[in-house]
Amino acid sequence: MLEAVDVGRQSVEVFEPVVGEDVISGLRELAAPLQGVRVLHLNATSYGGGVAEMLRSEVPLLRDLGLEADWKIITGGKDFFSVTKTIHNALQGAPRTLAGHEKEIYLAYSTRNARLLEEGEYDLVVIHDPQPLAIPQFHSRSGARWLWRCHIDTSEPNPDVWNFLTPYLDDYDAAVFTLRSFVPPDFPVGRVEIIPPGIDPESPKNFELKRETAGRILRWIGVETDRPLVTQVSRFDPWKDQPGVIEAYRLLKEEVPKLQLALVGSMALDDPEGWEVYRQIKGAARQDPDIHIFTNLTGAGNIEVNAFQRLSDVVIQKSIREGFGLVVSETLWKGTPVVAGEAGGIPLQMQDGRGGYLVHSVEECAGKVLRLLRHPEEGKALASGGRELVRRRFLITRLLSDELSLYASLLGRQAVGTSRGELDPVCGAGVGERSPAWRYRGERYRFCSRTCQQMFRDDPERFVRSLHGGRRAAGQSTEP
Ligand code: UDP
Repeated sequence: MLEAVDVGRQSVEVFEPVVGEDVISGLRELAAPLQGVRVLHLNATSYGGGVAEMLRSEVPLLRDLGLEADWKIITGGKDFFSVTKTIHNALQGAPRTLAGHEKEIYLAYSTRNARLLEEGEYDLVVIHDPQPLAIPQFHSRSGARWLWRCHIDTSEPNPDVWNFLTPYLDDYDAAVFTLRSFVPPDFPVGRVEIIPPGIDPESPKNFELKRETAGRILRWIGVETDRPLVTQVSRFDPWKDQPGVIEAYRLLKEEVPKLQLALVGSMALDDPEGWEVYRQIKGAARQDPDIHIFTNLTGAGNIEVNAFQRLSDVVIQKSIREGFGLVVSETLWKGTPVVAGEAGGIPLQMQDGRGGYLVHSVEECAGKVLRLLRHPEEGKALASGGRELVRRRFLITRLLSDELSLYASLLGRQAVGTSRGELDPVCGAGVGERSPAWRYRGERYRFCSRTCQQMFRDDPERFVRSLHGGRRAAGQSTEP
């Protein structure tokens, strides 16, 4: 048997004060036709990174909503996770291919994990990311629906690695991406949905924490709360560009000598690169006592992350490639401004000038952080706009609602009037007649916000490409 992650059950009612009664009753309505449905979420790690973060909240809530939800993780040795990290990097565009023996390792573990997955236990199996992607091919489908949930930016995958994986997608009934532009060219799964992630405002990472308590937590781990502080919270991963953050800090230090930098990073079970990157960062920090480097294995857990995101003057997320970047919503939710790389799902959560600033270089990053350090009232105002967007679009209740609709539709159990309706072609959010529209090549598209409209207008082909491959997206219409 595959290892189950023990997560219990959590009541959706806890969100009522934040999202209102209607949202909670909407969730119960969507879940009504799914009572007793057996759904498995399968991924590679129970901690470290955004997928584990979301499943830790989502599975207990699905249980409360009446589904028999489980979360399990695949098994793998160092050899397997080193191959899957190569696959992850190559799918995000790194110039790396797979050698024959690496493909064999991937397929051998996929076969082994498929055997460990019980037959006939589930109505729906949700496979997260590329690590367990090939499992359906080695498993008797036994009536279950299979869904591939891709959390990374696969818009320009390395062709060799992508061609190796593509045949293993044949057995999926549907796939979910964070942004439409992430759907790779010639994607073989007929049904594609766009559902961005969301954060749990009631988790220990995000719940309300008094400033005084947050201060005590940070002081206890050696951070001086009466001095300026900037922080990045990320896995230790080359795409998160912690060396670039250190360079930006050095530029800032010339202007703000009392500045401290915290790099809070997690190690994940499926990420063998983490320690290597950690060592590089330690080297780059050159024992500067004002650079604090923490990991989830050395004392920085959820509460500490909460305190850092809350008390930092500015949070940096200098990603070069990004799937979604949950940390951005987590930070904005706490009213702290963010300076972030314009990558992947980050511009969906914040605009340049709403929530903080989007940047493209070390110098720009240092410049924007300096501006926010010098004008804290501006930072607070930006963050408060960002928090509002998170409340509307990036809380876990919206994620649950999108997923329940999809599950019901895949299992043929959709209640009347609960389809997702017209959808934004960029981010998959529901749109209505009054949503901003734009015409492109004779077709009209509607958007949930000006941000999505702008993202589309900047490069329409990135989004249109995948619309015509699979299912026709509901956000597009040929009506005048
Ligand atoms: N995280 C954490 N401790 C750390 C670093 C990251 O708890 O030291 C969490 C972070 O708060 C967020 C998740 O890991 O919830 C990272 O998700 P994100 O989508 O930002 O990036 P990913 O790691 O999935 O690429």
